[in-house]
Amino acid sequence: MKQIDVKNITFDYIVRDENDQIESSIRALEDLSMEVKPGDFIAVLGRNGSGKSTFAKMLNAILLPNFGDVIVLGMNTKEEDNLLEIRKNVGMVFQNPDNQIVANVVEEDMAFGPENLGIPSEEIVKRVETVSHMVGMEKFLQKSPNKLSGGQKQRVAIAGVLAMKPKCIVLDEPTAMLDPIGRRDIIETVTKLNHEEGITIIMITHFMEEAAAAKRVVVIDKNRIQMDGTPGEVFADYRRLKEFGLDVPQVTELAGKLKSAGIPLPDGIITVEELISELKSRKTGT
Ligand code: ADP
Ligand code: MG
Repeated sequence: MKQIDVKNITFDYIVRDENDQIESSIRALEDLSMEVKPGDFIAVLGRNGSGKSTFAKMLNAILLPNFGDVIVLGMNTKEEDNLLEIRKNVGMVFQNPDNQIVANVVEEDMAFGPENLGIPSEEIVKRVETVSHMVGMEKFLQKSPNKLSGGQKQRVAIAGVLAMKPKCIVLDEPTAMLDPIGRRDIIETVTKLNHEEGITIIMITHFMEEAAAAKRVVVIDKNRIQMDGTPGEVFADYRRLKEFGLDVPQVTELAGKLKSAGIPLPDGIITVEELISELKSRKTGT
């Protein structure tokens, strides 16, 4: 079953001069196809300008493809009648937490999405209560968002999206502006939403360690999907990753070096825990 079906999409940005005449066009996506299944946790990697943000904006009809189609839960993003239902089901979280906060009190901010959908207020109160727990911000409901850290603000933004009960959340570099603690909290939050609530996660990131938390890693380069597999599969092919301007997680690199030094280790080690358990399972001197 497909939740989102991206079929051969091509997209060009039109660049206009000061007289509003078309000056040039920039290709951002070319003949890109991808299927997203319910419950997927996909990390999208790719160097700057490779088309990741454009791709993300295709998934809830912020942008529409020039060629090809994006089908969300059976609905084509090109049909205007589908917009509300698509936006309700595919929530977006962006890089800068400050641009996403709309209210002066945390609970009002979380209620903003469902209010726009016309949900009755008793139901909204219940939803805000539930989603604030899901992101671990239940103690901050009466606070001003201005007083929160970047990571806390991002969790409020995620809660606001959750309050619309989406099937899928798309996050475009949600941790890029956060400190290490904020980054860890966001990754833990989205991992929990995926594992416990079954919400599909599509997360663009340039941190390889974060991609290791996903079930599936997709690499975009030159406007197309170049790699698609489990984190273990994708990070095992470090030569191709380098070709696309990417690295492997530090622990994967270390495991590779240990292997070159004669310690027999499998390919595709992507977490510290895996490396520890591999090393422990070997007796010294073997
Ligand atoms: P990424 O998120 O991977 O950095 P983007 O999707 O933002 O990549 O950009 C893909 C290509 O489209 C790049 O060449 C970028 O310069 C271009 N681009 C992005 N946004 C615009 C825009 N609003 N107008 C013109 N070109 C754009
Ligand atoms: Mg981007």
